[in-house]
Amino acid sequence: MKNTILIVEDEPKLSKSIAEYLGGSGYETHILDNGLEVSDWAKANDPILIVLDIMLPGKDGVSVCQELRTHSQVPIIMVTAKTEEIDRLIGLEVGADDYLCKPFSLRELVARIKAIMRRYEYVPNDKTGIRGLVLDKARASISYEDRTIELTAIEFNILERLLGQPGKIFNRDDLIDIAYGDGRIVNDRTVDSHMKKIRKKLREIAPEEKFVHSIYGAGYKFEP
Ligand code: CA
Repeated sequence: MKNTILIVEDEPKLSKSIAEYLGGSGYETHILDNGLEVSDWAKANDPILIVLDIMLPGKDGVSVCQELRTHSQVPIIMVTAKTEEIDRLIGLEVGADDYLCKPFSLRELVARIKAIMRRYEYVPNDKTGIRGLVLDKARASISYEDRTIELTAIEFNILERLLGQPGKIFNRDDLIDIAYGDGRIVNDRTVDSHMKKIRKKLREIAPEEKFVHSIYGAGYKFEP
């Protein structure tokens, strides 16, 4: 199910036209017409993005979004008829990434999807990004919003791997392999000092976020 966008919409005509349009833009799609199955389906199939209507049978889109956020950082675009809810939707309380007000044009939807994919998922041109962080290989730097900071080659290698597998815990031996890759023996304190520097740099460009977590006795993980 690579490249699949999940469309959650109970109006069959609308979901079908969204699916056809996204298909024409090169995306695979899957349609669910109620809120109950979304979380399990997403867990099993790992969609690249979810277009989520708010008014749904079974379970409303806001509750579905909150449920998804307990286990997934998948980008979510909420579709709403009520403009007054927007702040709540994209805020921490609900956790959507973007929203569209009904009625919306399919062209606009695709533009939003592409913008989110650029921001969160994949940036061509040797840049990898997730959750607003963009790694630039050519410059050996990492950016968040309009702030950029340079990385050493070792810091770059470590961050590239951590960002590539959000939520996965890397132990110190993994990190030594990633950082040096030449079988050299390095002690744990060296790894910790690299991690300390990485976290300090991330704090400088994104003071309000915590991206890299230290797991006591286990290692480190990237989780926005
Ligand atoms: Ca609906």
